[in-house]
Amino acid sequence: MVCNTCGARAVIRMRQHRLSLCQAHYLAWIVDQTQRFIKKYEMFSLEDRILVAVSGGKDSLGLWDVLWRLGYQTEGLYLNLGIDGEDHYSVTSLAYATDFAQARQLKLHVVEVKQLHGQTVPELARITPRGRGKPCSVCGMVKRQDMNRTAVELGFDVLATAHNLDDEAAFLYGNVMDWNIRQMRRQAVVLPEKKGFARKVKPFFRFTERETAAYALLRGIDYIEEECPYAIGTKQIDYKILLNQMEEAQPGSKLRFVLGFLQMRAEGYFPSETYEEDGLLLRPCPGCGQQTSSEGLCSLCRLIEQPKKEA
Ligand code: SF4
Ligand code: ZN
Repeated sequence: MVCNTCGARAVIRMRQHRLSLCQAHYLAWIVDQTQRFIKKYEMFSLEDRILVAVSGGKDSLGLWDVLWRLGYQTEGLYLNLGIDGEDHYSVTSLAYATDFAQARQLKLHVVEVKQLHGQTVPELARITPRGRGKPCSVCGMVKRQDMNRTAVELGFDVLATAHNLDDEAAFLYGNVMDWNIRQMRRQAVVLPEKKGFARKVKPFFRFTERETAAYALLRGIDYIEEECPYAIGTKQIDYKILLNQMEEAQPGSKLRFVLGFLQMRAEGYFPSETYEEDGLLLRPCPGCGQQTSSEGLCSLCRLIEQPKKEA
């Protein structure tokens, strides 16, 4: 297997692109492709201030590294979920994110969920009916809201997350399985800014997990290899396994699935929710001040308040 660019020994073969590359050309390819996606999908420019959500994992640290190399104005955000059972997941992942930022002299904002909501994510999950069993749905709400709030409060133009092709394909697959049209209308690679909401972008959405892992490894980025302990047994993981089997048999399936969906969206099949069109008005939540379409408390505040009332 030789590099298609220079003929040296290739370190990776990407069957869906019919492309093999050596280390140097692979590292350059990831950076160039990211820049191409940023332009193609009009994500941001060199003038924008970008907050990169980092978890200490390969995708988010890889993304921050690439944006930094491309000369974008970036700062990091680590949201401490307080997932610290036996394996000290949050403590360890924060250490990776901190070391990464320090080595490049980049600024990392650390936001503590416990300070904001009085409880960590596993604690919130334990006290709320929705979270009993698995904390992922509570965790998703907390992440969405707190990342957005931090980006808006600190005056960033853009919030960048490191969702990769496997994430996007699994999310889409799950939404098709459940015919969750509402979620499909929200699945986008660029969510425009609106009152109280930062612009959200996913510059890595066309790279597979294997490609982002290879980038981090070959670039020498230290990252937390363990998954969050709560990821085990989730539907998302099942969908990823299924889609990988499909990819193995039919290289390029994942990319076709996601790009086909985006094309359909562009043709108007799954129009973005505009609150005006849907008759939903955004108003500030009396609990936390975040914009919400709910009357009264936003869904996260309701979730946190409910058990207090029941107690
Ligand atoms: Fe949160 Fe679940 Fe992801 Fe863990 S696996 S970080 S609990 S959403
Ligand atoms: Zn609220």
